[in-house]
Amino acid sequence: MLAQRTGMFKSSGTAAARAAVKAAADAGKEIIDLTAGEIWSDLAPTIRDGAVEAIRKGVNRYTDTVGLAELREALARKVSRETGEVWQTDEIAVTSGAKQALFDASMVLINPGDQVIIPAPYWTTFPAQVQFAGGTPVHIDTRANSYVPSIADIERAVTSLTCAIVINTPNNPTGAVYDADTLRGIARLAIERNFWIIFDECYADFTYDGQAHHPIVSLVPEVRSRTIIINAFSKSLALTGWRIGYMAAPKDVISAVKALQSHTTSNPNVIAQHAVLRHLKEGDGAYEAQLRRQLVTARQVGLSALSGLHTVAKPKADGGFYFYLDLADILPAGSGKTADDIVNLLLAEAGVAGVSGTAFGDPTGLRLSYGIPPALLEAGLGRLVQCLNNQPRI
Ligand code: PMP
Repeated sequence: MLAQRTGMFKSSGTAAARAAVKAAADAGKEIIDLTAGEIWSDLAPTIRDGAVEAIRKGVNRYTDTVGLAELREALARKVSRETGEVWQTDEIAVTSGAKQALFDASMVLINPGDQVIIPAPYWTTFPAQVQFAGGTPVHIDTRANSYVPSIADIERAVTSLTCAIVINTPNNPTGAVYDADTLRGIARLAIERNFWIIFDECYADFTYDGQAHHPIVSLVPEVRSRTIIINAFSKSLALTGWRIGYMAAPKDVISAVKALQSHTTSNPNVIAQHAVLRHLKEGDGAYEAQLRRQLVTARQVGLSALSGLHTVAKPKADGGFYFYLDLADILPAGSGKTADDIVNLLLAEAGVAGVSGTAFGDPTGLRLSYGIPPALLEAGLGRLVQCLNNQPRI
């Protein structure tokens, strides 16, 4: 018999989508995979050199549980630059990816029975981690508001049990970028109603068409004492497999995270830490600029392919590297059909894989990643447009 707790976690929806792609490919179908939450790219030279040098030097020991002091110092400088506030080393914890930083945050902030507001559609791991900590996710539907929650809706969702809100901007899966006024409103509410802000800015580097990412602390410095900044190099340096993320938060939060990590994973991989440290010290921004150019091109290629859609509205795709489609117009009400059915249809008839919004708390959404080579993207979206245009609009 497994523990009751296991009932709380199904494997994540995005992992299920990847499994479906593999099954179709194993069955001999040629599939264009638009499910990836990562960017196709070479390694940054600074990352490669930093890792190779650490190996050459024979680096092999544990580091401080929450990361090398020098790396934490470099991260404190990075967060200071980004927020316009001064951050100290003891306000930074290095983690095994943003996922661990988020997990740690749930574990050290949430009491059983606490409520955590999570705007929907949401990245599938947010509610799962809140539940592990004994908390209750409270969702706000953002679909009618271009995927950005209205302050009135958030205000209505706040209760005496509200412990935190999870803000993810630029957003996975929707690509929405929260505007400064909304973030100021969230900060004001958090102060007035006394709750934490878990601020996931993993996609901060990727905004388009004049949109800008706003770190919430840079807009409202007073909110700093109740904000947990979550970030990682997984997306910004296309480094998903290396597992380096971090948290910037008040000292007592970091101390609790350090104790938690000391009993769970200990320090993140030491070679990866040295690699990121090298990049922070010596990176000149060229790699990031090239990654951005790559995504700008892919987004343009993708949007132009999607401009052929007749049955479904074109996505805005302000940030991140996802196109998010609302399929409501081709899902007959009362038919019980969801985006899952369209995802299966696309896989079977067009040989294209996307992630159903049901994984993100949105049964009418479809996420398509454009972090893949442009030629593949163009071919995949071309097939998708043809297939969706054959669906009757209702
Ligand atoms: N936050 C968001 C919004 C994400 O999309 C992801 C990865 N898909 C993560 C956190 C986790 O990132 P990491 O790989 O650094 O754990």
